[in-house]
Amino acid sequence: MQAYFDKIYTEGFLAFSDVLKDKLEKQEKTFVITANPETLMIGQDNSEFDRILRSDKTVIVPDGIGVVKAANMLHIPVKERVTGVEIVQKLFEFLNERKGSLYLLGAKKEVLDKLVERLRNEYPGIVLVGHCDGYVKDKDAVFDKIVEAKPDVVLVALGIPAQELLIDKHYDRFEKGIFIGVGGSFDVLSGTKKRAPKIFIKLNLEWLYRIVTEPKRIKRFYVSNVKFISIIRKMRG
Ligand code: UDP
Repeated sequence: MQAYFDKIYTEGFLAFSDVLKDKLEKQEKTFVITANPETLMIGQDNSEFDRILRSDKTVIVPDGIGVVKAANMLHIPVKERVTGVEIVQKLFEFLNERKGSLYLLGAKKEVLDKLVERLRNEYPGIVLVGHCDGYVKDKDAVFDKIVEAKPDVVLVALGIPAQELLIDKHYDRFEKGIFIGVGGSFDVLSGTKKRAPKIFIKLNLEWLYRIVTEPKRIKRFYVSNVKFISIIRKMRG
């Protein structure tokens, strides 16, 4: 766990947006992992995902407030949340301005179709080089197509850790590109699922909104958060 916090991004959303803009301009390859406590707990049980979280190739950003608070308890000056949804919105703006290219993999077909339509209407500058829903069997074959298309940004929405494991498997085949596992972001960005009202986000209660609106998450949320807090307390000594 300490290894994850040693490399967590501390500087906040605006600075991270600048990092991504710079990477896009320089065509530098980047692999971003958006972390909440559950994500980091999966790393404790899954050795492949643990290796990816620790890797020099990946940047971990604090998506959930639990990660921000834990970092602060460990005296790591993490400023604020850097959420997957907001990163993706920023990337859409950058790609739109510079006529950059994008590939979308994941989510249900109807969700993805809605997102594609929204992109075409609202970000006409983006060159969408391809998209594929997340329920096709052979996702490696999809990556063969993505490698050929050489997009500036590749967003993979399959849930944690499947999305990161898939990106990792193919990452070395690319010379450029920003790769992010974005979980349920396509559901939100397509307008299918609502993000929490602004007041919840402002009060850092987005997690509460999510478990109340999706009760099936409660058990997973509770188990991983209780364990997470106990690990962080022990680390703090
Ligand atoms: N998903 C998918 N294929 C699968 C399983 C899930 O495309 O085989 C999609 C699902 O439709 C949703 C996203 O992956 O859009 C997972 O969202 P969730 O909010 O559960 O992600 P997490 O909490 O893991 O970030």
